[in-house]
Amino acid sequence: MTGSGTFSAGSGAADLLSRPLQFVKGVGPVRAGLLQRLHLETFRDLIFHFPIAHKDRASITPISRLRAGAEANIVAQIIDVRGRRFAGKEKVEALLQDSSGNIRAGWWNPYVADKLLPNAWGFFSGKVKLFNDKRELAGPEFEILQESDENDESSAASFTTGPSFGRIVPVYNLRPKQRLPSGEEAPEIRINQNFLRKLIWQALESGAAACIPDLLPPDLVKKMRLMPLPEAVRQFHFPDSFAKAEAARRRLVFEELFIISTGVALRRVQIETRAAARRMPLVPAIQSRIKARLPFELTPSQAQVFSEIAHDMNSTQPMNRLLQGDVGSGKTAVAVSALLLCVAHGGQAALLAPTEVLAEQHFRTLCNILQKSRVTIALLRGASTEAERREFLRKLDAGEIHIAVGTHALLEPDVTFKNLGLVVVDEQHKFGVDQRRALRNKGIAPHVLVMTATPIPRTLTLTLYGDLDVSRIDQPPPGRGEIVTKWLKEVDRPKVYKLMIDEARKGHASYVVLPRIDSESPLETAPETPLKGAKAAKARAPKKLWSEVKGVEEEVKRLREHLPTLRLEMLHGRMPGPEKDRVLTLLREGKIDVIVSTQVIEVGIDLPTATLMVIENAEMFGLSALHQLRGRVGRSERKSYCIIFGEPTTEETEERLKVFCKTRDGFEIAEADFRIRGPGQFFGTAQSGMPELKIADLLRDVDVLAEARAEALERVRRDPQLRKVEHAGLKARVKEVLGSRLGLIDVG
Ligand code: ADP
Ligand code: MG
Repeated sequence: MTGSGTFSAGSGAADLLSRPLQFVKGVGPVRAGLLQRLHLETFRDLIFHFPIAHKDRASITPISRLRAGAEANIVAQIIDVRGRRFAGKEKVEALLQDSSGNIRAGWWNPYVADKLLPNAWGFFSGKVKLFNDKRELAGPEFEILQESDENDESSAASFTTGPSFGRIVPVYNLRPKQRLPSGEEAPEIRINQNFLRKLIWQALESGAAACIPDLLPPDLVKKMRLMPLPEAVRQFHFPDSFAKAEAARRRLVFEELFIISTGVALRRVQIETRAAARRMPLVPAIQSRIKARLPFELTPSQAQVFSEIAHDMNSTQPMNRLLQGDVGSGKTAVAVSALLLCVAHGGQAALLAPTEVLAEQHFRTLCNILQKSRVTIALLRGASTEAERREFLRKLDAGEIHIAVGTHALLEPDVTFKNLGLVVVDEQHKFGVDQRRALRNKGIAPHVLVMTATPIPRTLTLTLYGDLDVSRIDQPPPGRGEIVTKWLKEVDRPKVYKLMIDEARKGHASYVVLPRIDSESPLETAPETPLKGAKAAKARAPKKLWSEVKGVEEEVKRLREHLPTLRLEMLHGRMPGPEKDRVLTLLREGKIDVIVSTQVIEVGIDLPTATLMVIENAEMFGLSALHQLRGRVGRSERKSYCIIFGEPTTEETEERLKVFCKTRDGFEIAEADFRIRGPGQFFGTAQSGMPELKIADLLRDVDVLAEARAEALERVRRDPQLRKVEHAGLKARVKEVLGSRLGLIDVG
């Protein structure tokens, strides 16, 4: 490609990049509208719409050498075009000829006929198949090169390179990210690859790529032997060779990951250099007091993790630790130990939970453990009255509350502490980064412990969690019974009812979980997530009828009819607080046989007598949600069951449910989830603070990530505010991409 170097980036540069597509020749309002659905509105957007694959169309095969089964490119003249009908379907056939022979091409699409001008020369690319025993080019993509036969083949051949032929050509995503209201993937926009290739080619030819400022410091580009940016952009779209395409991609991936890594490095360095935290040594006297309070001995694994935490808390550098432990591994006891350590040193501690139900449970646990002690614990609920709330705030601010438990309500700006020393965030993946930061900022330099049941694959610990130290509880508490997991069909339903009745007779409780509250309400689960790359193209989801998804309210009615002897109650997020309390109290007192609920049950509920978990419409739940739900049973020596019902509509869902039945290992589940859904979806982008990656693929690009991370950390250590001139572009970009997500305090 030529011409791009000649444009000088001056005042016209911005104009060129922001040139609106609507006024580009061949686009017009209709196509502009379609392109907009892919967020393509300007030359800049086009240039950054990178291909998802490439096709080799560099070599042209003479027609006589075409073999059935092969993908081939030919340059040929259109001799004849006709429409025919086969089994009621319309087919367009064209006879194509070059100097070596001829072949028929066929399209099951009547609209192509208009474009197939007899006598014209064209480039055709597609698969050779046998149709009625004769070779045929099946539905090839094509491009008309010359509209008449005035010129001979040699001149047509001399014309055989363009955006979609005679070279390695890009393949673009044509599917909008925005899903349909039904939750399905949107269909591809009605614009063909050739048109988009031409448009992007045109944008590149205009010299727009040369106008994009390169924000990587020049010495880094040199050190990492990266392709210069404008060249990388061109070579990634229209590579001269596959090797060039790969080198171009590496450059762009490196940049993308380097920006994120720089943000993470900045946060890390900022936390390291912040105001000093209070030291809270775990002296023997305190240790034995904590031990005496806990209702059980910590497992060796819990004890190990607690000692890591205590080690952090005995430092003036604030702890910033992530505690990973599978569902039911006993994270709470470790958290409580840390809270007590803080209180023993006269600090206030806060425990943040994602739901009221869980906050309430933690509050109760703490109250039990701390009976007859001087430690004061208080629960701030969203549903508290104004007077209660004011009282809570006053006491907290006066330091009269030692341990504050609550949901997001604790994050309100008017919630102030006297001397906050420790923040524990349970089920941290349910919180946004901003929310965690809000709590951290309520103390001068509090120690922070975040907990999650979701094991984080190594690639992610390298990125966004790169500034956290990680501890892991890797063994369950003693005396855990087996959980039998089964995926059943409708015909087996009576067996499940019988099981519920049997379990109730033994004094055990069952959960029934559904994706939504009633048939009008939206899902309380995350909808199915898209597949990545090639798989996505294949597995287009058939429609899931909204009405097929069950709701709690209908299900309770249905179950009451089928199981008149059992005590059934429901629990969901829309119930008023007192009603929720009533149900939870009954549940704890063992006065409920079956609890019908939405996913609110997912997080943290701890009821050791629960032995049966039934999940309806399991296809609507993500893998980690399913795993969390299963974790609600098997919390004692009793044998437990997890029964799922589900009709998967995609390969992805099917795989998900199979994996779920096969393993109970949280780590395996997380890795599978990561693999099936792709990293972007793994935590839910918005919640994790992870910006969406445009090119990089965390599974494929781990090595580049490791390099980018090492380089970023080294640079930030040398220039912690990114003040140097060569870091100006980088700094602006980090702020733009990550600023608010990472909670950077001050980047100058
Ligand atoms: P999670 O890690 O999912 O938050 P919990 O903290 O709720 O798990 O603990 C699950 C159950 O295991 C609770 O009933 C808790 O009392 C119990 N448990 C935790 N640690 C121990 C232990 N060391 N010995 C006995 N039981 C324990
Ligand atoms: Mg928990």
